[in-house]
Parts: sequence; structure tokens; C-alpha cells
Amino acid sequence: MDGPSGTGKSSVSRELATRLNARYLDTGAMYRVATLRVLRAGVDLTDADAIAETVAGMPLSIGTDPSREVVELDGDDVSAEIRGDAVTKAVSAVSAVAQVREQLVALQREIAAVAGRIVVEGRDIGTVVLTDADAKIYLTASAEARAQRRNAQNIREGRGDDYPAVLADVQRRDTLDSTRKVSPLRPAADAVLVDTSDLTMEQTIDELYRVVAQQLSATTGGSR
Ligand code: C5P
Repeated sequence: MDGPSGTGKSSVSRELATRLNARYLDTGAMYRVATLRVLRAGVDLTDADAIAETVAGMPLSIGTDPSREVVELDGDDVSAEIRGDAVTKAVSAVSAVAQVREQLVALQREIAAVAGRIVVEGRDIGTVVLTDADAKIYLTASAEARAQRRNAQNIREGRGDDYPAVLADVQRRDTLDSTRKVSPLRPAADAVLVDTSDLTMEQTIDELYRVVAQQLSATTGGSR
């Protein structure tokens, strides 16, 4: 499951995993933990070598239970801190570093290999991490729809109401993520595009379930 931020990707991926009786991996959380480590170390965000060195061998622990988020750095629960503003602002810079991606992609493949059935969510899962996945979806929505959802979430969680700033941040991250040299955000050639701009969460999940079932039956049919 790939796509930009604010499409409802995490919530629907978790729910889809539950419905499919599958494990779930949030790869964005992994890049966020790497970013937290870099920020804690006070590393200059323009120094790719220093970022790579700081992230190398980081003691990250991430769960795959769709109903329970476990994200630990050095044994500490960092699930709340990685969603904060500081990490959100810096994560594009850290995730653009090639060595960071290599390290985390290797870990993502290991986790997927032992998990059996798993929904893996990110930006480059269909194009780089798991190119032979049985089903690939690219979730999208207009920048405005995504900014509106994120702003509503900020209001609900007490982080204030500032739609113009949220929209600017969504657009800034889209540009950074889709123009970076390593693994730019784009749909895999064999991914099914699902636009969630006008869909509720329930409608999105129903549509995803339908698309996955279709892709899985096509894969099974093709191998017979
Ligand atoms: O999904 P989420 O918004 O938490 O991801 C945070 C950031 O991590 C993204 O903006 C992107 O820069 C990076 N990321 C990535 N590759 C992935 C998942 C996330 O580069 N597979």
C-alpha cells in the first residue's frame, strides 16, 4: 500500500489487515524513528553521512499487530513522539538518505518474509521493497482533501486549527517525496490506483478489500 500522506492510508491499512487476518507494517513509522534518533543526536539535517552513521544499527523495535502499535527506540516507547511536529518536519530529509533507506528496506523485507500474509504500508513498497507483492494499491487523494483531514485531526488532538499551514506542509512533503533521487514516490506500474478524496473511511476499506480480492484471485489464476 503506497501513496502520499493524508490519504487515510494508515487507518485503512490497519483495518484492511485486520479484515484479511494479516499482519501490518507501518514503514513510515520506521523512517520517523530514524528521524527521532537523528534529532536527539543533534545531527545537521544536511549532512547525509552523519545521518547515515547515526541511524546505522539503531535499536528499533516495531510490532506487526494491526490492533496494537508498538514502536520502540532503545527499549523506549516512542509511538507518540514520532508523530510530533519536529519529526514530521525533518522526516523527508532523513528518508532521502540512501544508506538509511537501504538499512530500513532490508529490515522491512525481513519482517515481511517471516510474517506470512502482511499489509505493508509506505511510499516505495510496490516499486522497491516488495516488487513481487500479490496485490499492490496506490492510495491517492487531492492535496486539499488530505490537508483538510490532517487539519481536522490536529483540531481533534488539540494541536490547533491552521488549514493554510497544513496544506503548505502537505504540498512541501509531496514535492520532497516525489522528487528525491532515491525511491521517489510514484505508483508501481502494476498498482491499482484508489482515490479517496470523496470516500469515507468505510467506503475506502470496502473498495480496498474488493481490489485486493480481485488482485489475489488474478495472481492465483495466473499461477495455475
Ligand atoms: O507515512 P508517514 O507520513 O508516517 O511517513 C513519514 C515519511 O517517511 C514520509 O513523508 C516519507 O518521507 C518517509 N517514508 C518513505 N518511505 C516509506 C515510508 C515513509 O520515504 N516507505
